[in-house]
Amino acid sequence: MNSLRDKDIKFLRGFGPKRAELLSKQLGIKTFYDLLYHFPTSYVDRSTIHRIWQFAGSDMPAVQVKGHFVSFTVQGEGAKMRLVGLFTDGSATMEVVWFQRIRQLRELYHPGTEYVIFGKPVEFNGRWSMVHPEVDTPSATLVQGGGMRGVYPLTEKLRNGGFSSRTFALAAADILGSHQHLQETLPPYVIGRLKLMGIREAIAAMHNPQSAAQLEQARRRLKFEELFYLQLDIQRYARRRKSQTEGFVFARIGHFFNTFYSDFLPFPLTGAQKRVIKEIRADMATGRQMNRLLQGDVGSGKTLVALLTMLIALDNGTQACLMAPTEILASQHFETISQLVAPMGINVRLLTGSTRKKERDVIHSQLLDGSLHILIGTHAVLEDVVQFKNLGFIVIDEQHRFGVAQRARLWRKNSRLPHVLVMTATPIPRTLAMTVYGDLDVSVIDELPPGRKPVVTLLRYEEQRFQTLQGIGRQLRAGRQVYIVYPLIKENEKLDLKSLEEGYESICETFRDYRVAFVHGQMRPEEKDFQMSIFASGEAQIMVATTVIEVGVNVPNATTMLIENAERFGLSQLHQLRGRVGRGGEQSYCILMSKRKIAKDTRTRLELMTSTTDGFVIAEADMKLRGPGDIEGTMQSGMPFDLKVANLATDGVVIQAARDLVDEILDADPDLIHPDNAILPRQLALLTSRSFDWSRIS
Ligand code: ADP
Ligand code: MG
Repeated sequence: MNSLRDKDIKFLRGFGPKRAELLSKQLGIKTFYDLLYHFPTSYVDRSTIHRIWQFAGSDMPAVQVKGHFVSFTVQGEGAKMRLVGLFTDGSATMEVVWFQRIRQLRELYHPGTEYVIFGKPVEFNGRWSMVHPEVDTPSATLVQGGGMRGVYPLTEKLRNGGFSSRTFALAAADILGSHQHLQETLPPYVIGRLKLMGIREAIAAMHNPQSAAQLEQARRRLKFEELFYLQLDIQRYARRRKSQTEGFVFARIGHFFNTFYSDFLPFPLTGAQKRVIKEIRADMATGRQMNRLLQGDVGSGKTLVALLTMLIALDNGTQACLMAPTEILASQHFETISQLVAPMGINVRLLTGSTRKKERDVIHSQLLDGSLHILIGTHAVLEDVVQFKNLGFIVIDEQHRFGVAQRARLWRKNSRLPHVLVMTATPIPRTLAMTVYGDLDVSVIDELPPGRKPVVTLLRYEEQRFQTLQGIGRQLRAGRQVYIVYPLIKENEKLDLKSLEEGYESICETFRDYRVAFVHGQMRPEEKDFQMSIFASGEAQIMVATTVIEVGVNVPNATTMLIENAERFGLSQLHQLRGRVGRGGEQSYCILMSKRKIAKDTRTRLELMTSTTDGFVIAEADMKLRGPGDIEGTMQSGMPFDLKVANLATDGVVIQAARDLVDEILDADPDLIHPDNAILPRQLALLTSRSFDWSRIS
């Protein structure tokens, strides 16, 4: 395979420097290897010959017909000049039209000769035509095998340059023909065990499949290979990091943890909370640095897990720090946690941008002399003046709000790396967790505390607004609180702000007896905090806001959320928003207000929200709808090499199989030195020639 990577495409029969340059510019295809791995994006059935007299409909698929040209004429002038061939298959005639390469084609095709023509029929003024179809002699069609034909991604420039899907299929066949001994890229024992197709056969079948079954086998092989090397890369990195980074050994469960657990636990832990704490405990006792992602749906009780694990850090003579993305969240955590541990004499303090100088000074000195046990704060804790005596454990809440660089700064506060627990309510589909976050250990709280009633989600259209507001009025009269959420999207920020302000005024008008808090992203932080605090305390019963309330806010008395223009939100965002209600014992409601006329995908999205509250189901669906590349922009930057055949959104089963095999191989041969594995590091090096640091999370 190596030599193919070096062989310039211009040396391919019939290519030459000019066409090679076009290919390189348009598709980045420079070598034989690139061309072999430029696969069709779909396939069409070429086993059937259609009859022209049966053409019908306004959007016909590409079809093939067999017959001969009756005549050729050149029509029009200048840019409109075209070659028109009148083609008959005995049943009827159609026009075949070319706008480019008129002279050459005129000489290439002869009236009377039999051709098989493949293209999309279009009807105009009662006459069928095909523009720039593929034209073969029947014998050429046979050479390629009758059945499936690949459709390759082509650009207009390539088409004009004479490239067709057939060019690619033939070129691939040509390369394979002259390279009989294409080197296998997986070890023979892997191929044997999984009954995979050989590499040469697989590539050949991708370009010129003999049957649907053969194509399926080829795809399976190539998919597996991609995911296998991806897992090998990730797992090799993860294992190396684990064996090389020394961490604090938290061997003891002591006074703080035990006392809290037996005397001050506010409610029995859920099974999932217990399991996760066990996983974390085991991890922190190993002597290697913990890097763990804690996923738990909104309201699953991550805070309590964070607290209990921070107590383990304290029991082992170190300090702990909890970092949250906003002041509100940091103070909520501070209040919850300091209340819970107050009776045990644990010193907890809050550090945010608005902490007074005097308090700051106390914090700084207590951190240094070790008398401050738990620091809770915003990114203010990252400042260099904040130095710990012995920081052993860091918890980061809602990780996606923090940049990589910021997190890295926190780690560096010690000579020895503290254990790290990153908590997120954004469910990460398993397939992504195994790849993008593949080097982190993952714990999942997959159970909500008992007694929670799932939020009832309703889809409502504009004309039902009046009844909807009446329903909200009933909730308010029952003493509950209500969120009303507006989208705020960058491109038309001004317009959105206007609709938000108008919405606020109309809500104030409709619900005159109630106080309405108002929050949006362009407010000064102090004003925002003030507005949030009057809602949290219940002084305000209604909160009109943009998505700034998306993360973490906990007001259990808020039972209703109305989301305006719900059609403009993504699934994950809707799920996060909805998580703000349903946090108490009362039945909660989320109303998605939408235009009636929406795209099919959008309706699918909204209807899914009404049918499930399971964050993982929603995240999977979101990934499938948007494609994995979109998920937090992690994919494009995060992959060590591009996947050509595999799809992270849909190939979960294959990912798991690849992961299992990689684990088994690395368990037996961690450094890949066994002769049977010789091919693995070589192939990995080739694939990942772009070096990439998987450690960016930690
Ligand atoms: P999140 O995972 O979204 O951060 P929180 O930690 O804020 O969730 O917990 C949500 C609510 O559930 C809080 O009011 C918390 O007190 C409560 N809670 C947490 N664990 C339990 C439990 N085991 N039993 C009952 N309620 C719990
Ligand atoms: Mg939380």
